[in-house]
Amino acid sequence: MWGIIATWRMALEGLSESASALAAGSAASTAVVDAVATVEDFPYYKSVGYGGLPTENGDVELDAAFMDGDTLAFGAVGNLIDIANPVRVAHALSRQRYNSLLVGQGAREWALEQGFSHKAMLTDRAMQHYRKRCRETLDKGLSPYDGHDTVGVIGLDKHGSMSVATSTSGLFMKKRGRIGDSPIMGSGFYCDSETGAATATGVGEDLMKGCVSYEIVRRMAGGMTPQQAADSVVFELEDKLMSRFGRVGDLSVVCMNRNGEFGAATNIKTFSFVVATAKQPLTVFRAERHQERTHYHPVDDEWMQAYAARIRAPIED
Ligand code: ASP
Repeated sequence: MWGIIATWRMALEGLSESASALAAGSAASTAVVDAVATVEDFPYYKSVGYGGLPTENGDVELDAAFMDGDTLAFGAVGNLIDIANPVRVAHALSRQRYNSLLVGQGAREWALEQGFSHKAMLTDRAMQHYRKRCRETLDKGLSPYDGHDTVGVIGLDKHGSMSVATSTSGLFMKKRGRIGDSPIMGSGFYCDSETGAATATGVGEDLMKGCVSYEIVRRMAGGMTPQQAADSVVFELEDKLMSRFGRVGDLSVVCMNRNGEFGAATNIKTFSFVVATAKQPLTVFRAERHQERTHYHPVDDEWMQAYAARIRAPIED
């Protein structure tokens, strides 16, 4: 068996290559890191890597993580500025005994010392979005925090090893130094090859309140199917936050167990994810909530074309 699953349609191109590599016997660790790096490199995905949206100060501060489900080793970076592939830095950190999670200037210095090269990650297009949002926020009082997504990829290889990797620019217009769930083990990602893995996307401040990725893996270990684990964790957290915190942001997750069975759950209208396994050809699904259960179905050509047009559309004033 082999399998790979990721949050959001943006993972499709990266997953396509990594699925072939897994089918040919590649390691899960390489497959997830390469898939995430492909998303980081693509300038039109505005919430990950190159082309990611900036903080309120206009800097692109990137978060990423990697976890090896065999050894439980992990590496993560937060607020990394101007290094091309944060996920590769996170992967390199997972090989260190200490200093697994580095942020800001320390993360940047370590990356440069290790030979990762400088790359200006703020694009003209991201700057246009930034200026537009500044104007809108002044004129209409829009929430500056709308506009975010994380790519999270889980891989299972033919040897039974699993890995997970994440990457994001976090919330658009976040404060300098803000970190969400994506580089935080247990919240944005968790992976144990003896059970399975999970990864999250949405409002990090709320996902962290439920340690959602660890909790999904724990429930799978207790006998739940991936779909049951994903749905129960997302909807229980939503109910809890509504009753105790009074509000809740976007919460979406994907997960896979060691047999290549997968699940996805969301509390928002349009959450897409991509999956391929030895039994399931590469497919983009759209997930929707129906009461306390998430249903999903493959997207059609029209959806794919609308997506392609939207991500490249000129930024209107
Ligand atoms: N979870 C990310 C964060 O809070 C953003 C997202 O996935 O939409 O930084």
